[in-house]
Order: sequence, then structure tokens, then C-alpha cells
Amino acid sequence: MQIKLFNSLSKKVQPFKPLYGDEVKLYSCGPTVYSYAHIGNMRSFLFADLLQRVLRIAGGYKVQWVMNITNIDDKTIRDSAKGSGAWKPEMGYQTNDPKENLKLFTEYYYEEFIKDIEALGIRSSDLDALPKATDYIAHMQDLIRRIIDNGYAYVAKGSVYFDVTKWRNSDIYGKLKKIDFENFKPGERVDTDEYEKETAHDFVLWKGRKDGEPFWNFSVYGMPCPGRPGWHIECSAMEYEILGIPFDIHTGGVDLKFPHHEDEIAQSKAGYGVDPNNFWCHNEFLEVEGKKMSKSAGNFYTLRDLINKGIDPLDIRFSMLSAHYGTKFNFTFDGIKAAKKARLRIQDYIYDLHEDIDGDEFVEVNMLREEAFGYLADDLHTPKALASIFTFMNENPANELSQISKKALIDLFREFNNVFAVWIITSRASIVEEVPAEVKDLAERRFKAKADQEWALADELRDRIQDLGYIIKDNKYNYELIKI
Ligand code: AMP
Ligand code: ZN
Repeated sequence: MQIKLFNSLSKKVQPFKPLYGDEVKLYSCGPTVYSYAHIGNMRSFLFADLLQRVLRIAGGYKVQWVMNITNIDDKTIRDSAKGSGAWKPEMGYQTNDPKENLKLFTEYYYEEFIKDIEALGIRSSDLDALPKATDYIAHMQDLIRRIIDNGYAYVAKGSVYFDVTKWRNSDIYGKLKKIDFENFKPGERVDTDEYEKETAHDFVLWKGRKDGEPFWNFSVYGMPCPGRPGWHIECSAMEYEILGIPFDIHTGGVDLKFPHHEDEIAQSKAGYGVDPNNFWCHNEFLEVEGKKMSKSAGNFYTLRDLINKGIDPLDIRFSMLSAHYGTKFNFTFDGIKAAKKARLRIQDYIYDLHEDIDGDEFVEVNMLREEAFGYLADDLHTPKALASIFTFMNENPANELSQISKKALIDLFREFNNVFAVWIITSRASIVEEVPAEVKDLAERRFKAKADQEWALADELRDRIQDLGYIIKDNKYNYELIKI
């Protein structure tokens, strides 16, 4: 199916075609691992997940999907500093080495991030790479040297800055968003990773060493410049190294258009000589109860905050997918209740399709397939795809359908679920059966034994579980009990 996507470069919905045969190279700006990701962040990761699923399932492409992990920037350094309030005992021992502290701190939040996305139905196994910035410092240094050699960066007080004035003589600075040059003062520099919206400055590529901060050795034309990378250079270097440039699609939230993505374009082109990618796709923001989410407004939620309130992460996934990614999403508790109801209505229909009642109606399921996947292929229009599914369900009650139609529909819902990933494709009977408490208890004890590396005990418990008629299927963070 032809996929169409809104491209922030052309500001139009455009037909998408991969640059390299039938493989799509996709890069998503990932989390800054300095705290638990909030549900706004989750919207952007879910959008990237939806895109890669639609590219594979509706587009028929192979997808090479990369999501970076920002484990060094202003915020991670600030909060990993010894004595910072963001430390928790489970992050490990605090050392006197800032680099080691940064590693312990960010690794903790990285692991938590993986648990969060898995809970939301984003499979980390679908990602080809989750590169961490600190593993690519040499590549960032190489890119910075190229930019300097090409005349678009300079050293000042041990830091390296991108020269926006020089760059504007060669190319456009402002490809994604109109940038304010009225207040632009050539040579005025900015050191922070995030800076005032839409006002251009010479931005930092490499930050000179500061006391108590992690640093790496670096020299420019024999001049020592120990320090650490700026945030923007991280993505440019990792994209080049892992995907190669140009690649196909880059995703992120709308707030990243400027400065992060605009600076990525400038750096890549100034250093490597080509624009980094063809399509830029941005998700709109998530708000809570109609307001910008913020800790001070008391409407700030992480995924685990919501899970602790008893909300099923699949309802969060479904509610976010019920809106188009390009519109603002208003998260509300009433909205989550409505999403649950709608998700379970489809789940019920799927159960009904598995019932043995033989109706006599025959339906052509291909029309529904074409319509719903057509909407998904058209700039990921999930709300329209869901609307066509609901209309079909209303017009075709499952118990009136012939077995052949029901079977074809079960297969179709399995295809839909490859995109939505919020249902189980099975009969009602198969899930009603409760796992006996004794088996559950043994499984919990085995899980703990494994975490404590008590392998012999874990094996013994596994055998006892098997004697009771269940096998355990382990995944990275959890396990499943399956009746033999
Ligand atoms: P960060 O961890 O801050 O680098 O952000 C990770 C991703 O979340 C980026 O793509 C941001 O654009 C996105 N993001 C941040 N806040 C929101 C929000 N409220 N709604 C949607 N996306 C967001
Ligand atoms: Zn990025």
C-alpha cells in the first residue's frame, strides 16, 4: 500500500518512498534518561512505534528502527551529581567519579524506560538499536572536526560553537520552522542544550570542561579542548554511524523542530555535506485536562503514576492511538475510561468471533481491510481506521456471521492488532481459566530466585510448576504462565 506522511520540511502530506529499495531507515529522538519518562514523552515514542508498524504492515517494508538514548546532557549531568535529589538508593553506589556517577544514574533510568515502553506495547525487540550517546563520543568528535575543517565552527574558551552566520551564506537555517533573525546578533553564543524558542544563536557543539563534570579528551588543531558533547551533535553523529545518511525518516515531538532538529540538519550538512534525512515527522503535544503538563500545575504524570492509579497501560495506548498524532492530545481520566470501554467493545467482538454459533451471513472482509489500512497508510489516520472498524462491527454482529466470515475476520483483527497491539486474539473461554494460586505463588518465588541468581532453586521451582501442568515462558522483564 502507498504510504503518505506529513513531512515537516515540505509542510505537506507526501507519498513516501524509501531511499534504499524496500528498507526504511528510521531514526527517533529517544528519551533523556534523567528521570522516569512522562506520558507526553510516551506519546512521542508511541507515535514512532505506530509509524514503524504501519510502514511494515501496511507498507510491506522492512524497517531499520533506531532510537537514541541521551545519557549525557545538561540535565543528566545536573541530576547525576553527587548529592543531587534525583538519586535513589537503587541506582547504586555513588562514587567520586562524575563519569561513573553519570553512568550509574542514567543506566537506572534507561532500564526503567525499557520497562515503560514494553508496558505500553512498544517492543524493544522491534528496535534495531538503542544507541547511548556516551558510546559515540569519538564519532561526535570526528563530526565536530569536519565542521571546523569546512569552516562552519570555531573554538572559544575551550568550547566549540557552530557559526550560524557563516552557515547562512551556504544554506538555509530554518528549514523546519521560521526562525527569528531580527533579534539575531552574529557571534552571540548559547551554551545550554535547550534555548529560547525560534531565536537563532551560535550553538555549542562541544562544551569545555567544567569542574566536577564528566569530560573526554579532545583536541582541535593541537589545542587541547577537554569537555563533553552538546546535545544536538549526539544525534547527528549517531545517525551517520548507525543508519548512514541520507536516511529516510526522523521523528520527534514538535518542540524538537527548533533548535534540536534544525541544528541537526545544519551540523550534518556542514560536516558530512548532505542533508541527513528525507522526511521529518513530528507528533503534536500531549496536554492534561486541557493544560500544558507541568509539575507546578499538579498535572504531571509518568506512566507508572497512572499504573499506580489502577489504569491499564493498554488503555493509555489505545486512547493515544484514538487521536491523530498531528493534533494536540488532551489526556483526561474520563477519556481513559471511554478508551477502555471502546477497546473492550472491540475485544468482545473478537471473543464473539471465536464462538461456535453458526450464523448464515457472509461478509466480504476485504473492504474493511482496504478501508482501515487505507486510513492508516494515509498519514497514520488511526481515528478514521477505528471508526471504520466500529461501523463494521455495528453493521455485522458477530453471532449472525457464518463461520467462514468469522474466521476471515479473526485473521483481519490479527492484522489490525499488529498495528494497534491492544487486544488478544483468542476465545473468551481460553482466558477465563484462572491460574491456580499455588502455581502463581511458585512462579513468583522462581522469578525472585532468578533475580537473586539462585539458579538451582529456580530450576527446582520450574519443575514443580511443570508438575502442576504449567510451563513458564520468560521474557526480559517478566514471565508468562502457559497451561500445558
Ligand atoms: P526528552 O526526553 O525530553 O528528550 O523528550 C523525549 C521526546 O518526548 C521528544 O520527542 C519530545 O519532543 C517528546 N515530548 C516531550 N514532551 C511532550 C509532550 N507533552 N507531548 C508529546 N511529546 C512530548
Ligand atoms: Zn535527537
